[in-house]
Amino acid sequence: RQKAAYAARFDEGRTRDGHRVEVAANLGNTAHAADAVEYGAEGVGLLRTEFVFMAHADAPNLDTQIAEYREAIDALGGRPLVARTLDVGGDKPLPYWPLPQEDNPFLGLRGIRLALTRPDILETQLRALLIAAGDKPLRIMLPMVKDIGEFRAAKAILDRLQREIQAPDVQLGVMIEIPSCALLAPSLAEEVDFFSIGTNDLTQYTLAIDRGHPELSAQSDGLHPAVLRLIQMTVIAAHAKGKWVGVCGELASDAQAVPVLVGLGVDELSVSLRQVPMVKARLREFDLSEARRQAELALGQATAEAVREALEAL
Ligand code: PEP
Ligand code: MG
Repeated sequence: RQKAAYAARFDEGRTRDGHRVEVAANLGNTAHAADAVEYGAEGVGLLRTEFVFMAHADAPNLDTQIAEYREAIDALGGRPLVARTLDVGGDKPLPYWPLPQEDNPFLGLRGIRLALTRPDILETQLRALLIAAGDKPLRIMLPMVKDIGEFRAAKAILDRLQREIQAPDVQLGVMIEIPSCALLAPSLAEEVDFFSIGTNDLTQYTLAIDRGHPELSAQSDGLHPAVLRLIQMTVIAAHAKGKWVGVCGELASDAQAVPVLVGLGVDELSVSLRQVPMVKARLREFDLSEARRQAELALGQATAEAVREALEAL
């Protein structure tokens, strides 16, 4: 019986009627990749590589980074790893990367826009990821992208490195965290290999509520119909070009949100590793047609509270 329970944890994520939804883990530390597998994750949907940089007094060199990334890739035993390039700046400073004082750090130099001011650091990271992966399934994801320009700039660096070290092709995707990217998803989908929706930041920038605000956090709800519409636009645009869409923000492990996201057509849910079994179990509770009904119902509401009440009443 114990053996059966163990095997069940390794099942693929599927709805009750068998619709496939990949369930992956979010990791803040490469040392936890083995635990993610233990919890039944089908891969890593978001490796927050910031920790590699924050753990050192100076930017980690190529070899240090290769060793870190390799630890995660090896532990995954062939399951895919989505590594997000360095997402610092604004509220997440690095001591060895002095930044100008900003009045609005959440609207300032952060994510990919900061990384592109230091292409040497970005290049070392991309090189380390490619070398660490070899022919194992690696996907690279860019944070806080606002339009195709930033994607193209990063892709030019990646393409050059791939030619130089003759690395196998890897998928290069962007996080959808800024509403502009969801609005422009049809043009992005032409060139980008995949999207992963960061609902924490997407909610913050859509509702103009600081994601860590002590008094407003209750209003900062990713089930807000405005956020759901942006997710819908992203999925429609991506699928029209045969690209996949994940959700790696906290909404992906919200039991009420899981059917809504599946109904919107999301292909992958990436959640903190301890939530993996819960999300897989939740998927098995509904059919795709029911998920689509819930998504329609949610999209038709005017506020996040109304969405939750309508779903509750089902
Ligand atoms: C997000 O913004 O939803 C996300 C997954 O990224 P982070 O929480 O690391 O900003
Ligand atoms: Mg984010």
